[in-house]
Amino acid sequence: MSFTYLNKLPSPAEILEMLPLSDDLKELKMKRDKEIADIITGKDSRFLVIIGPCSADNEDAVCEYVDRLGKVAEEVNDQLVIIPRVYTNKPRTTGEGYKGIASQPDPEKLPDMVAGLIAMRKLHIKAMEISRLTSADEMLYPENWCYIEDLLSYVAIGARSVEDQQHRLTVSGFDVPSGMKNPTSGDFSVMLNSVYAAQHPHHFVYRGHEVSTTGNPLTHTILRGAVSKHGNSTQNYHYEDIMRLIDMYKKMNLENPAVIIDANHSNSNKLYKEQIRIVQEVMHNRKISEDIRTIVKGVMIESYLEEGSQKVSDRIYGKSITDPCIGWEDSRKLIYKIAEMNAQ
Ligand code: PEP
Ligand code: MN
Repeated sequence: MSFTYLNKLPSPAEILEMLPLSDDLKELKMKRDKEIADIITGKDSRFLVIIGPCSADNEDAVCEYVDRLGKVAEEVNDQLVIIPRVYTNKPRTTGEGYKGIASQPDPEKLPDMVAGLIAMRKLHIKAMEISRLTSADEMLYPENWCYIEDLLSYVAIGARSVEDQQHRLTVSGFDVPSGMKNPTSGDFSVMLNSVYAAQHPHHFVYRGHEVSTTGNPLTHTILRGAVSKHGNSTQNYHYEDIMRLIDMYKKMNLENPAVIIDANHSNSNKLYKEQIRIVQEVMHNRKISEDIRTIVKGVMIESYLEEGSQKVSDRIYGKSITDPCIGWEDSRKLIYKIAEMNAQ
């Protein structure tokens, strides 16, 4: 066996004791969870905007970002519920590159998983305190989930994980909205099967325990575009794509049909500025079709203090070291525009 056992990790109870959530923040989370669940179930006609950097790579820059976001969120609160993307675990296509603050608290240093668990929890709590918003993260590793599950109001399952049984069954035990992305191949049935799995009860093994879950009726879909067999990006945010999704949803008898449109990744082909146009096209389609208005509950946008992306060694504060993002000014204007278009 080629494994070298380097460190034993602290238990979730130990990390939670070290970094507890205050009663004030617990209350904030309960209130936000209800608001977000009400949008997914259709009780609240506001629109979700899940927005923030591709990766939460630097505590100071992320905190400055969510501080700005929290202020804008208050201004548009009558139309939008804003959820910061505080993504601490990054999937990598080839396994190479920065894997998130949970693996590398300092992107220029070697991985440190114990420090990573602490950095991940600390960042989520600090972001909540500063912005008075609760965040979204991707569940990349079901086994490190219990270190932050009490902090998040939204969980995404990435395009590379959505077909995996352990991810699907773990989501079936969550009580917050969870978005299943279409796989990189673009197959809607893989994504909808994943929603079916997570909405139903299961009995399985989780972190050395035999567990059972009740199913998560708030599990829904996220469209992020796809990669064709020739390696080109193909989009799936258009009118026809959403109509096809509505049809497929109907045939599967799932609870709370809902979709979030991810404007970056293969939908923008990582031409990050296209996100501005894509989001407005989605808002327009919601205006002309009641069916689309009902099913599209929100958008996901990659945004940071500075636009674009950089190499880790460039060290520009607030600029992405993974996928390229739109910058703060464009983000702020786009949020106002989304609020205006949801009101019409
Ligand atoms: C992301 O949200 O940054 C991401 C990696 O998404 P996807 O799983 O769609 O590639
Ligand atoms: Mn990304």
